[in-house]
This record gives sequence, structure tokens and C-alpha cells, in this order.
Amino acid sequence: MEKRILLLIIAFMAVCLPACNMQSEPYGKFDTVPYESEDFAMGTVIKQRIFGSNAEEISRKVMERIREIEDDLTINKQGGEINKLNDFAGTDFVEVKEDTLKVLEKAKEFSELSNGAFDVTVGPLVKEWDVFSENPSVPSKDKVQSLLNLVNYKDLTIDKNQSKAKLEKKGQMVDLGAIAKGFAADEAINIYKEHNVTSAFINIGGNVALLGGKPDGSSWKVGIRDPRGSEGSYIGIVSTKDKAVVSSGDYQRYFIKDGVKYHHIIDPKTGYPADSGLIATTVVSDLSVDADALSTAIFVLGLEKGMELIENLGGVEAIFITARKKVYVTEGLKDIFQFEDGSRGYEYVKKR
Ligand code: AMP
Ligand code: MG
Repeated sequence: MEKRILLLIIAFMAVCLPACNMQSEPYGKFDTVPYESEDFAMGTVIKQRIFGSNAEEISRKVMERIREIEDDLTINKQGGEINKLNDFAGTDFVEVKEDTLKVLEKAKEFSELSNGAFDVTVGPLVKEWDVFSENPSVPSKDKVQSLLNLVNYKDLTIDKNQSKAKLEKKGQMVDLGAIAKGFAADEAINIYKEHNVTSAFINIGGNVALLGGKPDGSSWKVGIRDPRGSEGSYIGIVSTKDKAVVSSGDYQRYFIKDGVKYHHIIDPKTGYPADSGLIATTVVSDLSVDADALSTAIFVLGLEKGMELIENLGGVEAIFITARKKVYVTEGLKDIFQFEDGSRGYEYVKKR
């Protein structure tokens, strides 16, 4: 008799308890604990943190989309639409997809806005410097001079109605390396929204995009990398929601030859790695594609001109870190940027 009751209790527990547990977790595990993933694409590590159900599947969809964008926009591997556009330089228009057209238009717009500090046609110089290669070398002055003739964003014609683009001269090359990751981060945010996610974070190699705040309603905290420290070291934190926070810097990709550091952001006016007195910049804006282009542009422009550009735009904020380890921020960041110096010797200059 007792044994039968015991068996009944065990059977009841086996059938009912998992269901009871589910009921006690009405929001699902990932509403309070994020699903986190780490992948590699666009030449960098991609980290996602998603709150909500189906997070794993959504993160996979995001990666599929990012790889699709990479395939279309990259010049670092064969195939894709930008390679085709570059192959037809000086010859003919090339038909491109709507996405590619959108990024090309943005890239040209920021080239104009920054008066060529950001230049969508900087490709030939980027290729010559090739800081990504195993054995990079410093090009000759003559080589740099001759390639400078090929760099001019005005030579990129975009025919929006017919979804076509053309480069004017043979040898010219579009390079979207300073803007494509930003576009990809915006696309990731769109995918989260389509799947009813309200709280998510993605970091594509320094391009952070935030959807909402954290599930408890508080802001996300985005660490601003110490450009002279190791990965994971910060000079401060930006607390915000629903924004893109994108950084550029001389620490991201570079090589050293005879004691001189040659980094990956080229000044299209000189043909050499930008030497504006800045070592890192961060832009905070609604769209990651804008923040990406602007962080590169102001890195080339330097503190004064960069600050002027950002202040004239409105709705966009920035952090500038100089080679002298001074940190400047625009007015709108003063309340949400928390400087954390430690002993690393940075100075937060609140007033310019
Ligand atoms: P980012 O890390 O967003 O600042 O972008 C740097 C990448 O953009 C480089 O690796 C190049 O592919 C490309 N690039 C370098 N200099 C420029 C420039 N002045 N304008 C536009 N793109 C650039
Ligand atoms: Mg950029």
C-alpha cells in the first residue's frame, strides 16, 4: 500500500514538476540572463548579448546577415559587389544591390561632410600600406604620391534610380572598411527588433550598437578602450540606451618599422597614416553607420576640426583622446561619460 503511494508521488513529480517550473519562469531564461555569443567575421570578433526568447536562433540570423554584408562589401577577399565596382573602375557602371547602394551613398555623404578626411576612395593607399599583411612595409614616397592621384571621392558616381555606381579612373578603389561594420551593427539591431527583442548589445570590433537598455531599465555601460592599455582596459564608461558607440584608433591595426608605428587610418591628403595628434576617437549617435564613418573622419581631422564637425552636426557626440593623453568630450557626453583614470596618466579636460 505504502509502496503504491510512494510510486504515485514519484510519478506525479516526474510529470508535473517540469511544467510547474516552467510556469514559475514565465519570461524564459534569457529575459534575466542574456544569451551571449562570440563569432568571427568582417576580420574581427563579434560579440552579441541578447535578452529574450529564441536568442540563440536570433544571434545566428544576425551572423548570417553580417556574413552576407561582408561578402558584398569586402575588398579583402574575392567576389562581391565592391570588388566588381573596383574592377570596372574607369570603364563602366556596375549594378549593385540596394544595401550596397545605401552604404556607398552614406560613405560618399561622409566623404563630402568631412571634406575628404574620410574618403570612400582611399582603397589604393590602404592596399599599398597593407597593415593587415604578415609582412608589411613602408611604401616609397613616390609610390604614395602617385597613388594620391587616385584618391578622390568626387570620382565615385552613384546612380540611385538605376542602382548603379562607377569609379571615374582606372586603378581607383572604393574601400568601405571604415563604415561597413557600422552598417552591419545597424542591421543586427533591425533583426533584433524584427524578432521582438527589446534589449540587446552587439560589438563588431569596436562598433557597439545598443537596443534599448538592460532589462531592469538601466543603461548599458560601454567601456571606452584605453588606447595605450591592453584589451579590456578602459579610460572611462559611457552609460546610454538605444545608441551606437563606435571607436577608431591607432591601436586597432598597425605595424612598427624602425621604431615608427604605422597604423591603418590613412590621411587622404598626405597618403600616410593620419598624424593629427589623436590616438583614439569615439562617436555616439543613433545609427552605427554614422558613428563608424564619423569616428574615422574625426580621427583624421584632429581635435579642433573634428570637434567642430561633431558640434555642427547635432544629435552626435564624441570623445577625443590625444597623443598627450588628454581626454576631451562634447557637451552632450558630460553627463553620461564617466572618466576612470586609475594610474594610467590620462587627464580629463572638461573645458576646452
Ligand atoms: P575604422 O576602424 O572604422 O576607423 O576604419 C579604418 C579602416 O577604414 C581602414 O582599415 C581602411 O580600410 C579604411 N580607411 C583608412 N583610412 C580611411 C579614410 N581616411 N577614409 C575612409 N576609410 C579609411
Ligand atoms: Mg569607422
